[in-house]
Amino acid sequence: MGKLLNGQIALVTGSSSGIGAAIAVAFGEAGATVVVNHHSDKSLKDAEEVLAKIKAAGSDGFIQQCDISKEDEVKAMYAEIFSRFGTIDIVVANAGIQQDASFLDMTLEQWNKVIDTNLTGQFLCAREAAREFKRRGVVEGRSKAAGKIICMSSVHEVIPWAGHVNYAASKGGVKLLMESMAQELAPQRIRVNSLAPGAIKTRINEDAWDTPEDEKKLLELIPYGRVGIPEDVAKAAVWLASDESDYVTGTTLFVDGGMTLYPGFADNG
Ligand code: NAD
Repeated sequence: MGKLLNGQIALVTGSSSGIGAAIAVAFGEAGATVVVNHHSDKSLKDAEEVLAKIKAAGSDGFIQQCDISKEDEVKAMYAEIFSRFGTIDIVVANAGIQQDASFLDMTLEQWNKVIDTNLTGQFLCAREAAREFKRRGVVEGRSKAAGKIICMSSVHEVIPWAGHVNYAASKGGVKLLMESMAQELAPQRIRVNSLAPGAIKTRINEDAWDTPEDEKKLLELIPYGRVGIPEDVAKAAVWLASDESDYVTGTTLFVDGGMTLYPGFADNG
């Protein structure tokens, strides 16, 4: 079997760090040309390291700065991709943030920032890709689908999260955004799915695992007995982006070591 994503063009948003970086590298290893999106000047060096790994794996790509919550910047990013490669095959709408506060103390600014990034940003990036997938259609020998959209959700699309209502609302929104897009786009042979990680060691949740005591407490929520790593999610992303999952659309794939299995009920039912 050749490389699973050979000859395909993929955009991974927020791929200068964490889960996005692991997906970008795994896509490169799977033969894709990868657009490494990063947010600001501060993340350029990290993006360069990710691109170097993609190139070391024998694939190509480029770095594109873009705030994915801004429509004009998203359109400009896609214009750059189309001017370089003519089209696109895969988008992983991964960029996301947390801005935590108790519900009573949460400001409108904190609410809007998280919704703008985690939900509106996914809408904007998926819409531009879907327009191109529909225009181009299926290309024989490239992929069985006209295009693949992968939304980055979270176990918090189903698990309520006190102190994080903006984040949980954004991921709950991603669930029905993804499912509604999948329903609307399936006749065009566009597949839309979500990945829903549990606890994965990245900087977004560092304070939940950076001391042995914190990690022990976190493990109470994870039946499989280990905290996840970005590569756990990246492997699932390669499968969801490839023709190996060609009959899968409208699905959320939980990559969570069983966090959504209500571990509190294991000996307390
Ligand atoms: P991370 O902080 O390493 O990655 C988030 C990335 O998004 C960063 O590179 C950041 O620069 C980028 N970003 C933020 N705002 C942006 C914007 N406006 N435009 C472009 N890029 C922007 O953390 P991560 O854990 O890798 O998070 C990636 C995704 O995975 C997020 O959507 C997050 O909600 C989701 N997730 C993470 C976990 C976990 O346990 N780490 C669990 C569930 C879901």
